[in-house]
This record gives sequence, C-alpha cells and structure tokens, in this order.
Amino acid sequence: MGTKGTSGAKSSAGAKSGRGISRRGLLIGAAVTAVGTAALAREQLEHAWWRLPGVEKPRKPGEVDYARAQWISASSANWRRADRPDDYTIDRVVIHVTQGSYQSAVKVFQDPGHGAAAHYVVRKDGHVTQMIRELDVAFHAGNRSYNERSVGIEHEGFVDRPQDFTAAMYGASARLTAAICGRYGMPVDREHIVGHVEVPGTDHTDPGEHWDWDRYLKLVRAAGKK
Ligand SMILES: [Zn+2]
Repeated sequence: MGTKGTSGAKSSAGAKSGRGISRRGLLIGAAVTAVGTAALAREQLEHAWWRLPGVEKPRKPGEVDYARAQWISASSANWRRADRPDDYTIDRVVIHVTQGSYQSAVKVFQDPGHGAAAHYVVRKDGHVTQMIRELDVAFHAGNRSYNERSVGIEHEGFVDRPQDFTAAMYGASARLTAAICGRYGMPVDREHIVGHVEVPGTDHTDPGEHWDWDRYLKLVRAAGKK
C-alpha cells in the first residue's frame, strides 16, 4: 500500500512544482478514466497502476508492500528477481510455521546458504516483518510454480504447540493476507489461501493440524471489509 500511494503523491507534486507530469502520472490518469473514477474506492485507486503492464515498479531500499511491516532484507540467494504480477499472476498465499523463533527465521532468511525464505514473517506478538518484495519470487514453497504464483507468510512457533498461535499473530497475519488478496484480486477461500502442506510435491507439514483455518479465514474476511 505504501509504495503505490507514495508514487502517486510524488507524481502530482512533480506536476505542481512545474517539473512536468511523469509518465506514471499519465498512466494513472488513463487507468482511472478507463475504469470509472466513481466506482473506485480510494484503496483500489492507489493500486490501479500496479496492474498496468510495462510500468516499472519502484524499488527503493527499505520499502515495503504492506504499510504495517518492518523491512529486513533476506539474502538475495533466497529469492529471484521478478516483476510480479506482470510476469507471474499472484493467486496464492502460502501459510507456513517456522518451527523455531522469529529471530531464528529472520537469521536463516538472511543466510545465503539457506536456499529458502518467505516474503513475510509474523511474530507471536503480531509484529510483521517483510524480507522479500512481493514483486519477487521467494523460495518458500519447495515448488517452482507455487513460488512464482504465491506470497509466502511464515509464522513464529512450532506446529505441535497450538499455544504458539496467539490471537495477536492470527489477527496480524489475517490483516496482511487480506491486504494481499485485495491487492491482487484474490478470493478469500481455502483454494487461494493454502498451507505449505498443500503445495504439490512438498514434504513439509506446516502449518499443521493446530492451525485454525476457520478462525483464520473469518479474520481475513473481516479485515478485508474494513
Ligand atoms: Zn513451510
């Protein structure tokens, strides 16, 4: 959300200060006209240009796709540069459990030898850290096409310890998933929001039997309505 809003504001500021209207500004204008301004909520308006092909997405150090997230970059060995959703359609969120602490997850995702990392890590207290841009393909699902089509969210804790899945964690993760679904027009259901265990070919079992899918989807739907 932050990136789109920021670039839009910058374009209009540039126009006002006499430096001319940027190409991106013109494209935003075209998209708005085509879809119909009245029908667009402010949030959708901010995201309209995101879906336009050929527009270079901004990549500023430290920038996040989710405004509530803190940025800590993963090692570039654990993801692949892409230009999603233009080159790959994003239509899945993959839910993981770290089998360890938040700190250990952040540490291994920063390790080039680990070979895997997710876009986001959600802590037990509800803190959200983004480590890979949604533009890029994170190596988290153990399946190339699922990596290319999904956003991966790790949750601090262990699959056999239901007490690790706190209300704060469920709530924060649900708000994040709602934002991702909204951004890419993804339905909130169990076809599109899946566990790592459901990824074809995986030998992983997370998020495990204690992850409360009914509770989680209810929270995602509620967060999406706000
Ligand atoms: Zn996993």
